[in-house]
Amino acid sequence: MEALDAEFCVRWLTAAAGAVEREADRLTELDSPIGDADHGVNLRRGFTAVRAALEEAPPDTPGAVLVLAGRQLISTVGGASGPLYGTLLRRTGKELGDAAEVAPGRFADALAAGVAAVGQLGGARSGDKTMLDALEPAAAALTQDAAAFGAAARAAAEGSAATVPMRARKGRASYLGERSVGHEDPGAASSALLLAALAEAAGTAR
Ligand code: ADP
Ligand code: MG
Repeated sequence: MEALDAEFCVRWLTAAAGAVEREADRLTELDSPIGDADHGVNLRRGFTAVRAALEEAPPDTPGAVLVLAGRQLISTVGGASGPLYGTLLRRTGKELGDAAEVAPGRFADALAAGVAAVGQLGGARSGDKTMLDALEPAAAALTQDAAAFGAAARAAAEGSAATVPMRARKGRASYLGERSVGHEDPGAASSALLLAALAEAAGTAR
C-alpha cells in the first residue's frame, strides 16, 4: 500500500461525514433507550463543521487535516462524544507530525495513540460499553497489519455488536446500570461508521 497523504485524510473524513449524515437517525435512536437521544444530532453537527472547515481551507499534511477536524468536533459537539472524538483525531494528527506523506505503519501507530488518548480522557476501558469497544479492536487490527483497513472496519463493527450484552460502566448509559444491557452503544456504532469510512477512503471496503 502507498503512503497516505492529506488527500487521503480528507477522503476519510468526507466519507465519515456522509455516513454520519445518512445514519444520524439510527445513531440518535440507539441513544434513546440508554442515553438522551442526541448522538446522531451531535455528530451531524460536528461533521458538518468538519466538512466545511476542510472545504474552506484544506491543510496540506495528513496530520494537520486530522488536527483541524478534531478541533472542529471539540468546539461544535455538545455531548461527551465531541471531546472524545475530537481527542481521537487531534492526538492521531499530532502523532503524524508535519510529514506530507506517512507510511501505513506510522498511520496505524498514530491511530492507536489516538485511541489510547480517548481512554485516558474518558477513563473507560474495553468492556465498559463505549466507543472504545469498537475503536480498540480496530486499532489493534491495523497495528497488526497496517494495510488491513477492511479488517479494521470489520473489527469495529463486531466490537460494536458485542456491546449489546454489556452493562455500561461509563458515560450516561452507566446511570441505567443493569437496564443498559440489551442495547448497542451509540458511540460504538458511530465508531464503526468512522472505521468503515476509513476503509472506504483506503479503497479496501468490502
Ligand atoms: P452524551 O452522552 O453527552 O449525550 P453522545 O450521546 O454524543 O454524548 O455520545 C454518547 C457516547 O459517548 C456513548 O455511546 C459512548 O460510546 C461515548 N462515551 C460516553 N462517555 C464515555 C467515556 N467516558 N469514555 C468513552 N466513551 C464514552
Ligand atoms: Mg447522548
